[in-house]
Amino acid sequence: MQKYVKNYLDYHGLCIGDLILCEVCGKPTIIPDNMEIHHIIYRSQGGSDEPENLIALCAGEDDTCHSKAHRRELTPEYLTGLISANI
Ligand SMILES: [Zn+2]
Repeated sequence: MQKYVKNYLDYHGLCIGDLILCEVCGKPTIIPDNMEIHHIIYRSQGGSDEPENLIALCAGEDDTCHSKAHRRELTPEYLTGLISANI
């Protein structure tokens, strides 16, 4: 498991295989099936692996929240606002 995924799961008291709700749309998902932990600020841009920079987004083949985040239809500012209540 990648370190940032472990950071996210540990912080939120979750395990691989747990049902996790997408933090944008609320869709029930399971790591690693259709859930990805997204870096709000990309690591290549200096973003950290800490929980305040991580958000659980539904992922997969369809038009998912993870793909929207990478197309910047879901902006980093929007995503940060969503998780700030949970940190
Ligand atoms: Zn979603």
